[in-house]
Amino acid sequence: MSIEQNVYELLHELSPDVQLVAAAKSMGIPQVLQAIDAGVKIIGENYIQEAEEKYKVIGNRVKWHFIGHLQSNKVKKAVAIFDMIETVDSVEIASAIAKRCAEVGKIMPVLIEVNSGAEEQKCGVLTENAAYVISAVSRFPSIKVMGLMTMGPLTGEQEEARPYFAKTREVFENIKGLNIDGIEMKYLSMGMTNTYKVAIEEGANIVRIGSKIFGPRKS
Ligand SMILES: *Cc1c(COP(=O)(O)O)cnc(C)c1O
Repeated sequence: MSIEQNVYELLHELSPDVQLVAAAKSMGIPQVLQAIDAGVKIIGENYIQEAEEKYKVIGNRVKWHFIGHLQSNKVKKAVAIFDMIETVDSVEIASAIAKRCAEVGKIMPVLIEVNSGAEEQKCGVLTENAAYVISAVSRFPSIKVMGLMTMGPLTGEQEEARPYFAKTREVFENIKGLNIDGIEMKYLSMGMTNTYKVAIEEGANIVRIGSKIFGPRKS
Protein backbone atom coordinates (compact mmCIF):
# COMPACT_ATOMS: atom_id res chain seq x y z
CA MET A 1 0.00 0.00 0.00
CA SER A 2 1.15 3.52 -0.73
CA ILE A 3 1.40 6.34 1.80
CA GLU A 4 -1.55 8.02 0.08
CA GLN A 5 -3.74 4.93 0.39
CA ASN A 6 -2.75 4.47 4.03
CA VAL A 7 -3.75 8.05 4.80
CA TYR A 8 -7.05 7.83 2.89
CA GLU A 9 -7.92 4.67 4.74
CA LEU A 10 -7.10 6.13 8.15
CA LEU A 11 -8.96 9.38 7.52
CA HIS A 12 -11.96 7.39 6.37
CA GLU A 13 -11.80 5.26 9.50
CA LEU A 14 -11.29 8.06 12.04
CA SER A 15 -14.24 10.12 13.15
CA PRO A 16 -13.91 13.83 12.33
CA ASP A 17 -13.45 14.73 16.00
CA VAL A 18 -10.27 12.65 16.25
CA GLN A 19 -7.18 14.49 14.99
CA LEU A 20 -4.55 12.51 13.15
CA VAL A 21 -0.91 13.39 13.82
CA ALA A 22 1.37 11.74 11.28
CA ALA A 23 4.43 10.74 13.33
CA ALA A 24 7.15 11.34 10.76
CA LYS A 25 10.41 10.59 12.59
CA SER A 26 13.07 9.23 10.22
CA MET A 27 10.86 9.88 7.17
CA GLY A 28 12.09 12.15 4.40
CA ILE A 29 10.46 15.20 2.89
CA PRO A 30 9.00 13.30 -0.12
CA GLN A 31 7.18 10.86 2.17
CA VAL A 32 5.86 13.64 4.37
CA LEU A 33 4.63 15.53 1.30
CA GLN A 34 2.80 12.42 0.08
CA ALA A 35 1.02 12.18 3.40
CA ILE A 36 0.10 15.87 3.24
CA ASP A 37 -1.20 15.51 -0.33
CA ALA A 38 -3.44 12.71 0.88
CA GLY A 39 -4.95 14.88 3.60
CA VAL A 40 -2.69 14.86 6.65
CA LYS A 41 -2.99 18.20 8.47
CA ILE A 42 -0.62 17.69 11.40
CA ILE A 43 2.96 16.36 11.36
CA GLY A 44 4.49 15.04 14.59
CA GLU A 45 8.25 15.24 15.03
CA ASN A 46 10.51 13.86 17.79
CA TYR A 47 13.79 15.57 16.95
CA ILE A 48 14.34 19.30 16.52
CA GLN A 49 16.99 19.07 13.84
CA GLU A 50 14.92 16.70 11.72
CA ALA A 51 11.88 18.91 12.16
CA GLU A 52 13.84 22.00 11.16
CA GLU A 53 14.95 20.42 7.88
CA LYS A 54 11.40 19.47 6.95
CA TYR A 55 9.90 22.71 8.18
CA LYS A 56 12.26 24.73 5.99
CA VAL A 57 10.79 23.07 2.91
CA ILE A 58 7.21 22.36 3.96
CA GLY A 59 6.52 25.36 6.20
CA ASN A 60 3.11 26.31 7.50
CA ARG A 61 0.88 24.45 5.09
CA VAL A 62 0.48 21.94 7.92
CA LYS A 63 0.56 22.16 11.71
CA TRP A 64 3.61 20.80 13.53
CA HIS A 65 3.39 18.98 16.86
CA PHE A 66 6.47 18.20 18.92
CA ILE A 67 6.14 14.66 20.33
CA GLY A 68 9.71 13.92 21.44
CA HIS A 69 11.57 14.69 24.65
CA LEU A 70 12.37 18.41 24.70
CA GLN A 71 15.70 19.54 26.08
CA SER A 72 16.05 23.09 27.33
CA ASN A 73 18.82 23.93 24.84
CA LYS A 74 16.37 23.17 21.99
CA VAL A 75 13.49 25.28 23.26
CA LYS A 76 14.28 28.30 21.10
CA LYS A 77 14.10 26.27 17.90
CA ALA A 78 11.06 24.34 19.09
CA VAL A 79 9.15 27.55 19.73
CA ALA A 80 10.00 28.76 16.23
CA ILE A 81 8.70 25.62 14.51
CA PHE A 82 5.90 24.01 16.50
CA ASP A 83 2.21 24.80 16.83
CA MET A 84 1.88 22.51 19.83
CA ILE A 85 4.31 20.82 22.22
CA GLU A 86 2.68 17.58 23.35
CA THR A 87 5.40 16.46 25.73
CA VAL A 88 5.77 19.02 28.51
CA ASP A 89 6.81 16.93 31.49
CA SER A 90 8.18 19.40 34.03
CA VAL A 91 7.57 22.89 35.34
CA GLU A 92 11.20 23.66 34.39
CA ILE A 93 10.78 22.93 30.69
CA ALA A 94 7.45 24.78 30.70
CA SER A 95 9.20 27.76 32.22
CA ALA A 96 11.85 27.71 29.48
CA ILE A 97 9.16 27.49 26.78
CA ALA A 98 7.20 30.31 28.38
CA LYS A 99 10.26 32.54 28.59
CA ARG A 100 11.07 32.07 24.91
CA CYS A 101 7.42 32.53 23.87
CA ALA A 102 7.26 35.79 25.81
CA GLU A 103 10.37 37.01 23.96
CA VAL A 104 8.83 36.35 20.56
CA GLY A 105 5.23 37.20 21.43
CA LYS A 106 3.83 33.71 20.94
CA ILE A 107 1.39 31.68 22.99
CA MET A 108 2.25 27.99 22.85
CA PRO A 109 -0.47 25.37 23.26
CA VAL A 110 0.94 22.41 25.18
CA LEU A 111 -0.10 19.03 26.45
CA ILE A 112 1.28 17.62 29.67
CA GLU A 113 2.87 14.22 29.13
CA VAL A 114 1.73 11.71 31.70
CA ASN A 115 3.68 8.58 32.57
CA SER A 116 0.60 6.43 32.80
CA GLY A 117 2.36 3.56 34.50
CA ALA A 118 4.65 1.76 32.09
CA GLU A 119 7.61 1.16 34.36
CA GLU A 120 10.40 1.21 31.83
CA GLN A 121 9.33 4.58 30.56
CA LYS A 122 10.90 7.56 32.20
CA CYS A 123 9.22 10.42 30.38
CA GLY A 124 6.16 12.14 31.66
CA VAL A 125 4.84 13.25 35.01
CA LEU A 126 3.39 10.67 37.35
CA THR A 127 -0.40 10.63 37.27
CA GLU A 128 -0.59 11.74 40.91
CA ASN A 129 1.52 14.83 40.11
CA ALA A 130 -0.31 15.88 36.95
CA ALA A 131 -2.75 18.29 38.62
CA TYR A 132 0.06 20.01 40.54
CA VAL A 133 2.22 20.38 37.41
CA ILE A 134 -0.72 21.73 35.43
CA SER A 135 -1.65 24.29 38.06
CA ALA A 136 1.97 25.45 38.16
CA VAL A 137 2.24 25.60 34.36
CA SER A 138 -1.12 27.39 34.10
CA ARG A 139 0.51 30.45 35.65
CA PHE A 140 2.77 31.05 32.64
CA PRO A 141 0.86 33.54 30.47
CA SER A 142 2.57 32.52 27.23
CA ILE A 143 1.69 28.82 27.56
CA LYS A 144 -1.78 27.36 27.22
CA VAL A 145 -2.32 23.89 28.68
CA MET A 146 -4.81 22.11 26.43
CA GLY A 147 -4.78 18.54 27.71
CA LEU A 148 -2.73 15.42 28.26
CA MET A 149 -0.56 13.12 26.21
CA THR A 150 0.61 9.63 27.09
CA MET A 151 2.68 6.96 25.43
CA GLY A 152 1.37 3.97 27.35
CA PRO A 153 3.37 0.76 27.48
CA LEU A 154 5.67 0.21 24.54
CA THR A 155 4.62 -3.38 23.93
CA GLY A 156 2.65 -4.22 20.83
CA GLU A 157 -0.52 -5.46 22.48
CA GLN A 158 -3.66 -3.30 22.13
CA GLU A 159 -5.41 -4.65 25.18
CA GLU A 160 -2.32 -4.30 27.34
CA ALA A 161 -2.45 -0.57 26.72
CA ARG A 162 -6.12 -0.14 27.65
CA PRO A 163 -5.74 0.29 31.44
CA TYR A 164 -3.05 2.94 30.94
CA PHE A 165 -5.24 4.87 28.53
CA ALA A 166 -8.24 4.54 30.86
CA LYS A 167 -6.14 5.83 33.74
CA THR A 168 -4.97 8.81 31.69
CA ARG A 169 -8.59 9.57 30.74
CA GLU A 170 -9.53 9.49 34.41
CA VAL A 171 -6.75 11.95 35.26
CA PHE A 172 -7.88 14.12 32.34
CA GLU A 173 -11.48 14.24 33.60
CA ASN A 174 -10.39 14.91 37.18
CA ILE A 175 -8.26 17.86 36.12
CA LYS A 176 -11.05 19.16 33.91
CA GLY A 177 -13.29 19.09 36.99
CA LEU A 178 -10.85 21.25 38.95
CA ASN A 179 -11.64 24.22 36.65
CA ILE A 180 -8.09 25.55 36.83
CA ASP A 181 -7.90 29.12 35.51
CA GLY A 182 -6.28 29.65 32.14
CA ILE A 183 -6.29 26.04 30.96
CA GLU A 184 -8.63 24.20 28.63
CA MET A 185 -8.74 20.41 28.96
CA LYS A 186 -9.63 19.75 25.36
CA TYR A 187 -7.17 17.22 23.93
CA LEU A 188 -6.22 13.74 24.97
CA SER A 189 -3.36 12.46 22.80
CA MET A 190 -3.02 8.68 23.11
CA GLY A 191 -2.48 5.79 20.75
CA MET A 192 -0.05 4.85 18.02
CA THR A 193 -0.18 2.34 15.14
CA ASN A 194 -0.76 -0.70 17.34
CA THR A 195 -2.97 0.91 19.94
CA TYR A 196 -4.97 3.76 18.41
CA LYS A 197 -8.27 1.86 18.25
CA VAL A 198 -8.24 1.10 21.96
CA ALA A 199 -7.00 4.63 22.69
CA ILE A 200 -10.00 6.12 20.87
CA GLU A 201 -12.35 3.80 22.74
CA GLU A 202 -10.80 5.15 25.93
CA GLY A 203 -11.33 8.77 24.91
CA ALA A 204 -8.37 9.86 22.77
CA ASN A 205 -9.09 12.70 20.37
CA ILE A 206 -5.53 12.97 19.06
CA VAL A 207 -3.79 9.85 17.74
CA ARG A 208 -0.13 9.82 16.68
CA ILE A 209 0.42 7.34 13.90
CA GLY A 210 3.69 6.58 12.14
CA SER A 211 4.27 3.12 10.69
CA LYS A 212 0.66 2.57 9.62
CA ILE A 213 1.09 5.60 7.37
CA PHE A 214 4.73 5.46 6.31
CA GLY A 215 5.54 1.78 6.67
CA PRO A 216 8.16 0.38 9.03
CA ARG A 217 11.01 2.64 10.10
CA LYS A 218 14.62 1.71 9.48
CA SER A 219 16.24 1.45 12.87
C1 LIG B 1 7.04 7.15 16.79
C2 LIG B 1 5.98 7.69 17.67
C3 LIG B 1 4.62 7.46 17.41
C4 LIG B 1 4.13 6.60 16.26
O1 LIG B 1 4.52 5.27 16.40
P1 LIG B 1 4.00 4.14 15.39
O2 LIG B 1 4.02 2.92 16.19
O3 LIG B 1 4.96 4.13 14.26
O4 LIG B 1 2.63 4.54 14.95
C5 LIG B 1 3.70 8.05 18.25
N1 LIG B 1 4.06 8.80 19.30
C6 LIG B 1 5.35 9.04 19.59
C7 LIG B 1 5.69 9.89 20.76
C8 LIG B 1 6.35 8.50 18.78
O5 LIG B 1 7.63 8.74 19.09
